[in-house]
Amino acid sequence: MPNTVDTAHIQSLDSAHFLHPFTDFKDLNARGAKVITKAEGIYIWDSEGNRLLDAMSGLWCVSVGYGRKELADAAHQQMMALPYYNSFFQTTNVPAATLAAKLASLAPKVDGRSFEHVFYSSSGSESNDSNVRMVRRYWDLLGQPQRKVIISRHNGYHGSTMAAASLSGMSYMHAQGDLPIPNITHIEQPYFFENARSGETSDEFGLRAAGWLEAKILEVGPDKVAAFIGEPVQGAGGVIIPPATYWPEIQRIVDKYGILLISDEVICAFGRLGHWFAYEKFGYKPDLVTFAKGVTSGYIPLGGVLVGDRVAKVLIEQGGEFNHGYTYSGHPVACAVALANLQIMESENLPERVRTDLGPYLASKYAALNEHPLVAHAESCGFVAGLVLVKDKRTGERFDPDLSVGMLCRKHCFANGLVMRAVGDRMIIAPPLVMTHAQIDEMVALILLCLDLTWQELKTAGYV
Ligand code: PMP
Repeated sequence: MPNTVDTAHIQSLDSAHFLHPFTDFKDLNARGAKVITKAEGIYIWDSEGNRLLDAMSGLWCVSVGYGRKELADAAHQQMMALPYYNSFFQTTNVPAATLAAKLASLAPKVDGRSFEHVFYSSSGSESNDSNVRMVRRYWDLLGQPQRKVIISRHNGYHGSTMAAASLSGMSYMHAQGDLPIPNITHIEQPYFFENARSGETSDEFGLRAAGWLEAKILEVGPDKVAAFIGEPVQGAGGVIIPPATYWPEIQRIVDKYGILLISDEVICAFGRLGHWFAYEKFGYKPDLVTFAKGVTSGYIPLGGVLVGDRVAKVLIEQGGEFNHGYTYSGHPVACAVALANLQIMESENLPERVRTDLGPYLASKYAALNEHPLVAHAESCGFVAGLVLVKDKRTGERFDPDLSVGMLCRKHCFANGLVMRAVGDRMIIAPPLVMTHAQIDEMVALILLCLDLTWQELKTAGYV
């Protein structure tokens, strides 16, 4: 691609004016940001003409790949017909109502419970703020206003607004801004590699990890607990895939105490784990489901909450006015793009392809990465995958966190045409759902190359 962008100029504007999310501003200014200028299929290009295979789908969102004209056309047509109108004052618009019905039809019913309603926002964070508001409203309406506490997990990620960052279990986020806000508390995550006892099976560990929820409910007082929120697979925490026994046991516990269950599927919905919604895969029955990202493949911001019968019935029949909402709730252009995106996913059968073909193919390739001297616990679930970089494979000894081994590996990825994300010592991917087998082979070959280069660098420096 010809280099039509003045990289140094854009970098200077960027460092003078753009405060990036989750970024050490001074550090970035010293380096200069990589300027991404175009994308097609599963690849992105920077302003210097370097091509990178985007194994993170942007930020877990570009599920149908880049350059899909259908989505641009849907946005264009809707912008010309009705670019914006609010839905506050007894008005609606065609795409918002049509998409709500479509989402209701895609969400699988479990044990007769269905999701007939949608509350819209523009992001995952806002959607989880809406969850907090809806959960509190629900219990107020039922005459149990003392049920305020929402239980979440350490190393879970639910967003970055005040409430969503509080639900998130990231101590480095809580450390800035006096978080969590009151009435949000956390339990330990179901991370087998880190938290299992020696000799414990994955199934045994899953039951024990779910038991931490029951212990927390008893500690807080069952009559004070409003809800439990979790990601089906923890994404930003490093692709932490729970044992098979975990979610069914969580379901048993929330049922026992009558508390609401929120499935945060901002990453996991819309085919990413091989199903339209991930609660189906793991066999549980949430009351609220958070979505964003994949609903539009990231082409335009849209998020929301699928509201199950149990909550909707109370909010609608007993509710009166719900004093909450956003300017862009039900944005017509975002909803039109979402409809076109879901149409692509349906016509290309993406959830099923991930479940029956691409996911198993990726899983077999990932299992083979366990042979690498630097790698422990390489595994995938649908189209997310993670591995741990270890100092000693035999004993599982980890690297000193100060070494930032993940960042070393990520540097080799960037230099060799691969976008892979580092979370501490975990390397993770969430590739576009439209990959071919040949592209999966190409991606795994790049991953192996970067692991080799990281291994060599560590060896030369005497760390392994
Ligand atoms: N929930 C989950 C599970 C997420 O992964 C994210 C974003 N990575 C969010 C919520 C927050 O979404 P957003 O950045 O759109 O606010």
